Amino acid sequence: MKTMNRTQMTQMLRRFPGSIVLICAVISVICVQSAAAAQSPQFGPPLGANDGVEYAPRVLRDGGRLVEDTSYDVQNPDLKGNTCFGVAWEKLWHAGQDLYRADGKSTAGAEVSAVADGTVAYANPDLNYPGLVVILEHEAEGGKMFSVYAHLDDNSLQVREGQAVERGDKLGAVLKMAYTGRFPELHPSGDDSHLHFELRRFLNAREIYKNAPDCNGLVAGRGYTHPQRPGEFPSETGGYVDPAEWVAEPGG
Ligand SMILES: [Zn+2]
Repeated sequence: MKTMNRTQMTQMLRRFPGSIVLICAVISVICVQSAAAAQSPQFGPPLGANDGVEYAPRVLRDGGRLVEDTSYDVQNPDLKGNTCFGVAWEKLWHAGQDLYRADGKSTAGAEVSAVADGTVAYANPDLNYPGLVVILEHEAEGGKMFSVYAHLDDNSLQVREGQAVERGDKLGAVLKMAYTGRFPELHPSGDDSHLHFELRRFLNAREIYKNAPDCNGLVAGRGYTHPQRPGEFPSETGGYVDPAEWVAEPGG
C-alpha cells in the first residue's frame, strides 16, 4: 500500500479540511471505547480506601541504575540470595504489587481493605509470608477473581474464612517489617513494611507449580513465579492478572 509523505498529507488536508475532523472522530471513538474497557469492572484500592493516604509500588533508581522495582510482572534487582530451589531471587517474576506509602513513611499499620464485595476464601495463620495472608473470592468480569493480601500483622486479622465482605471492609493491617535487600545504604530507614497484593484467577497457587519443588512452602507461588511470568501461568481458570488494570485509585 502506498503511504503519504508529509507534503502529500499537508496537501490533502488543505484540499479536504474535513478529513482531519473525521480522523480525530475515529481516533476518539477508539480511545473512549478502550478506556471504558480498561475501567470495567473497577475494584477499589487495597490500601488507602479509608485513610486518604497514597500508596504505590516502590521504584527506586540510583543514577541510571534500577535499584528496586516492586511492581507486578517485573524482576526486582533489590532481592538478594537464592531460593531453596536454586534460582536467584532477583530472577523471580513478581506475581503482585508491593505497595508502600508514596510519601516514604512506614507502611506498617496501614489499613488493608477488601477491593470488592466477596467471600473470604482463605484467612489462616498457618502461612507465613511473613505475616498473615487473606484471600478473597469475587465474581468479576471473565469469571472468578481472587484478591490476595499478604504481610498482615498477626494480631490485626478482622475476618474469618467463609465470611462475606463488602468493598472497603477492613481485613487487617500491614505488618512491620525490616529491610533485607541488597542496598541497605539506599534504604536508610531500614523499614520495608508493605502490602503484597495479587489478583489471580485461581485460589491455590501451589497447585500450578509443576517445575519447582515445594521447599517447605518457600516456593515461587508465594508471591513470585519462575520461570514463566505471572500472566503465563496456566490453570484451568486462568493465571495472574495485572492489578493496575483492575484497581481504581483511592477515592476513584
Ligand atoms: Zn511482593
